[in-house]
Amino acid sequence: MARIIEPDLNFVKGVIDAGGDTLKKCYQCATCAVVCPLSTNENPFPRKQMILAQWGMKEQIARDPSIWLCHQCSDCTAYCPRGARPGDVLAAIRSMAIREYAEPKILWSLYNNPAGLIVLFGVALVVVLAAILAANHGMPELEVPVKFSHGLFHGFLPVLYVDAIFLPVAGFAALIAIRGIANMWKQFTTGLDIPEAYKPTTMEMITRYIIPTFKEILDHERFKKCGVNYERFNGHRYLLYAFIVLFVVTNIVFIGADFLGFHTPWPLWNPVKIFANLGAVILIYGSVLLIQNRKAREAEGNLSGSYADWFLLYLILFIGITGLGAEILRILGLRLAYAVYIFHLMCVFVLFLGLPFSKFAHLLYRSTVMVYDRYVTDVRARMETSAPAATVVEEAAAAGEESSEEAAAEEGQQEAQ
Ligand code: SF4
Ligand code: SF4
Repeated sequence: MARIIEPDLNFVKGVIDAGGDTLKKCYQCATCAVVCPLSTNENPFPRKQMILAQWGMKEQIARDPSIWLCHQCSDCTAYCPRGARPGDVLAAIRSMAIREYAEPKILWSLYNNPAGLIVLFGVALVVVLAAILAANHGMPELEVPVKFSHGLFHGFLPVLYVDAIFLPVAGFAALIAIRGIANMWKQFTTGLDIPEAYKPTTMEMITRYIIPTFKEILDHERFKKCGVNYERFNGHRYLLYAFIVLFVVTNIVFIGADFLGFHTPWPLWNPVKIFANLGAVILIYGSVLLIQNRKAREAEGNLSGSYADWFLLYLILFIGITGLGAEILRILGLRLAYAVYIFHLMCVFVLFLGLPFSKFAHLLYRSTVMVYDRYVTDVRARMETSAPAATVVEEAAAAGEESSEEAAAEEGQQEAQ
């Protein structure tokens, strides 16, 4: 009996609204599948996904790990003869997937809609001002910064109050992110039908799949395979390294100041401070490279950046500039340092909260799929090789029997002679 396709038209509309408006131009020539490094004979990527999206086959696309393995190199878009921009369509599909995993959905809408910008920064401003008022028991005295002093912001907003802002936000974002990752893992692994004997232990999962995936991410191996957009490799790599440095120094300050009694402010020549400033410089450099690269790709017609892409890039750039800027203004003894510092905290608040809702969520979901990809590929390979291995053993045993029979026959012949 013929299978009836029930297209999800809301999904098609969602992809078009999220930046995949060229979706219907695809006429299935398969040029994209020829140039894409992820394409295989079994999975002609992204040609197959283009038609599934055209048909509104939401479930099939949502269970397809390839949409996350795509790193938007734009090779397919550059060669598509119809201007269907498969790279942009896949980015729109990923944005829809992030929406599926995000809860509450209103936060996804705020992060993916220009109108949401005012709400997000409004909330951030209220939260930061409330912390400042609480720390100072009312309006603080904005003393003129003493040049080269290092205690200005500490008196204005002690670390404990900064923690009181960011720990709940980071905890909330982490919970939503973990829930999203768990849902994604379940969606991909349901129906995989892997025999118990092939299922890895937690330790095997970490050593065989998770650690090699982190190594691959650090090396940016997939980005190195980009053709028309190889330049993006550097900007992306710098951003990743900057985030790692800033994550480490933030945690050192958190543990040192809150638990070990090394009270802030720490002087400028403190190694942790030096590393933090270095991280900020790399962050600014990496985001400028990516913004320039994105603009160039748009000018060439190889990319049509969505609001969510630009929002994240400029947010990261502002975090770097305001973080470093507040410090420089403070050192120069300028009162403007207060305003820049408040804006810096607001930007960090919006970034933290947006982890599972903005394009930042790629970091979570793409990493999860890379682990899944290693896991499935490895288990399937082991399952395949174990079948022939059993055959080999049987053949070897049969050959052994044959040769021992031949040997016995030869022995018998020799004895008869
Ligand atoms: S997206 Fe473009 S290159 Fe790919 S199959 Fe469709 S028309 Fe061809
Ligand atoms: S953007 Fe790059 S990785 Fe993604 S589908 Fe196109 S060619 Fe493949």
